[in-house]
Amino acid sequence: MEKAMNIGVLGAGQLGRMLALAGYPLANRFTFLDTTGHPSAGIGDVMIDTDQKHLASFLEKVDLVTYEFEHLPVALVQAIEEHRPVHPSSEAIRVCQNRAEEKALFDRLAIPTPAYRLVESAEELEAAARELGTPVVAKSVTEGYDGKGQAVLKDPGEAADAWRAINHPRLIVEAFVNFVREVSIIAVRGRDGEVAFYPMAENQHVDGILRYSIAPMPDLNDSVQQTADGYIRALLDELDYVGVLTLELFQCADGGLLANEMAPRVHNSGHWTMDGAVTSQFENHLRAIQGLPLGDTAARMPTCMVNVIGREGELAAILALPDAHLHRYDKSERAGRKLAHVNLLAPTHEALLKRVHACAALLPEAPEPRFSFE
Ligand code: AMP
Repeated sequence: MEKAMNIGVLGAGQLGRMLALAGYPLANRFTFLDTTGHPSAGIGDVMIDTDQKHLASFLEKVDLVTYEFEHLPVALVQAIEEHRPVHPSSEAIRVCQNRAEEKALFDRLAIPTPAYRLVESAEELEAAARELGTPVVAKSVTEGYDGKGQAVLKDPGEAADAWRAINHPRLIVEAFVNFVREVSIIAVRGRDGEVAFYPMAENQHVDGILRYSIAPMPDLNDSVQQTADGYIRALLDELDYVGVLTLELFQCADGGLLANEMAPRVHNSGHWTMDGAVTSQFENHLRAIQGLPLGDTAARMPTCMVNVIGREGELAAILALPDAHLHRYDKSERAGRKLAHVNLLAPTHEALLKRVHACAALLPEAPEPRFSFE
């Protein structure tokens, strides 16, 4: 193997922190470029650069660049690509930071999505709600995450209020999907085009924020996993993608899948892989971008990831649960902030659910865990 690389990471939050933790055994070093002024990685060499003055010294330090945050100026990533390899590419960022581009790509690759319209005024929003039939979900085309910049309209007459509340020049309006559950598929593609797929996860969101992910799902039909594998492979190949990609989907009553959105990076719904899979999403991302062989993506055991949000609660008591693994991000408590997650493992889903409920009871802000197969 060649000399271990110094990896440059754009963004310096908990995803970057966990990338570094996975890279140290491979002797990687990490240099983070934070453009927000609020880095939380707490690890590696963190450069704060809110006015793009330190790009040259960042580039001097690193051999290869990746990112943990896709809401970056595409021009910045393109400028970096002139000097260092960037994986995934700026093209993946360009598509994934814009819901209209993402939908157009899904359409082009025949990946089913909820019916949608693009609108640029309150009047167009109202007309779209009428055409699609309420309820509809309106989302800002850019800059939305964790359910921010969104509104559900129960009636077309709510368009003016929703338009004002979202306050964005361009929205995507989607038919409201009466899904059975929300799921995600995570896959990794190497520089040589090899692809590996993780078992899909069932995800419980509350107020647009992920709270629980469980994988593998006990009742998932093989053909559904294969369908999801096919969708994400089409995306990976089309973008000539290198690294980990996440696709969030809705599963409907007939078993069918509708793509919601994708993220060009390691993802919260893949944190279960840190303890529950043979190779974690973080390690596999690092292997992929460095041109190393991909690791096995199989699950070791039924696993549930529990997000710790807002307040940390009785973490020592959580560690007393059997096969519980705590990952803290070393951040201060604040309402709605992701502070840590717990991975719980058990030999059966029945035993796992008991542990999940016990864990949730120890977290002050945790909603009731509820899975579609319970
Ligand atoms: P998003 O930011 O697109 O992932 O949306 C945040 C959450 O809103 C999702 O996880 C869903 O729970 C919900 N949601 C988004 N789009 C729809 C839709 N078209 N139909 C029903 N629920 C949706």
